[in-house]
Amino acid sequence: MNSASDAKIVYKKIFLLQNRIRFLITCKFMVQPLHPTILAIESSCDETSASVIRSGKVLNNVIASQAIHHKHGGVVPELASRAHQQNILLVVNEAMQTADIKGNELNAIAFTRGPGLMGSLLVGVSFAKGMALALSIPMIEVNHMEAHVLAHFINERPTFPFLCLTVSGGHTQIVLVKDYLDMHVIGETQDDAVGEAFDKAAKMMGLPYPGGPLIDKFAQLGNASTFKFSQTVMPGLEFSFSGIKTAFLYFLRDRKKENEKFVEENLNDICASLQRHLVQMLLQKLKLAAQQTGIREIAIAGGVAANSGLRNELAQTAKELNWKIFIPEFQYCTDNAAMIAMAAHYKFLAGKFCSMDVAPIPNLAIGG
Ligand code: ADP
Ligand code: MG
Repeated sequence: MNSASDAKIVYKKIFLLQNRIRFLITCKFMVQPLHPTILAIESSCDETSASVIRSGKVLNNVIASQAIHHKHGGVVPELASRAHQQNILLVVNEAMQTADIKGNELNAIAFTRGPGLMGSLLVGVSFAKGMALALSIPMIEVNHMEAHVLAHFINERPTFPFLCLTVSGGHTQIVLVKDYLDMHVIGETQDDAVGEAFDKAAKMMGLPYPGGPLIDKFAQLGNASTFKFSQTVMPGLEFSFSGIKTAFLYFLRDRKKENEKFVEENLNDICASLQRHLVQMLLQKLKLAAQQTGIREIAIAGGVAANSGLRNELAQTAKELNWKIFIPEFQYCTDNAAMIAMAAHYKFLAGKFCSMDVAPIPNLAIGG
């Protein structure tokens, strides 16, 4: 036999071997277990988080918050991506260790594709790609807003269809949830989010970022009927929070003209009054959505879902209107990877994986 035919045989063997490897990898992707173990990564804004989920049960939720933004009075995108870069390996390692999971036990890696800050998202997506390549496992992209809704399946379980009011620093939406992966936004803000209104109002009063939890704290000590703010009228299920920000700015300016110490002397009452006003704006539209859809299973999600005023008023409304309400645990309200893991679990079962050339989408919409 000559060397040319030897080479041909070797090439043929390599070709067959390559095909076999490709076939085995395809089989591995196609024959997915019904009880998957997934690592999920969240890095959309200023929280670096990782979580491991096994058979639909969240095993942990490791979160590294970025204190660096506090002194700037808001999230600085460049600093957020740098901090994600520093935190991500530590956070993922901790999630893997506390779940007692080795890399080769993972069936997929999930990550937040959007919405969020481009630089922050890129850190999570790139890390997920590296890990998926190294472990030869598929990737699952998750929409951050859909994940906020699916956080409800970590513990309690609403039945479909239900309504979810998702309220955070960047979003205010009413979502009609028909199934795990079938949800539609039926109402949303046309300008600022309610979390932004809380944070900006707090800043105007000289409170540090994020001001939402502080307004909540002081509001609990104040009288909510002390000050009144005018309502912004919006059609249907639409919200608007930019008007109240401006109205609040003028309110403080005028009162401070009369009394320089107005904020210090009335902080609790101002916070209570403003909080009640914002909560009523939310509940008014939520009631309308329930009335229009005839749905009485109502959930809230997102950072502002931690607000005690919203929780109390929602409980009160539920009694009046015979709603069944769902409020997630605090750690699953603000940005966290457990909710990404929960969403990834359902996408895994539905065989919804993404390709290696996936890129973040900062304004990714629900259903987008
Ligand atoms: P985003 O995803 O937009 O970063 P999160 O879901 O992390 O938002 O929520 C952060 C927002 O939630 C901030 O605007 C913060 O002020 C607000 N927030 C957190 N806790 C409370 C609270 N108890 N009352 C009001 N707002 C709150
Ligand atoms: Mg969020």
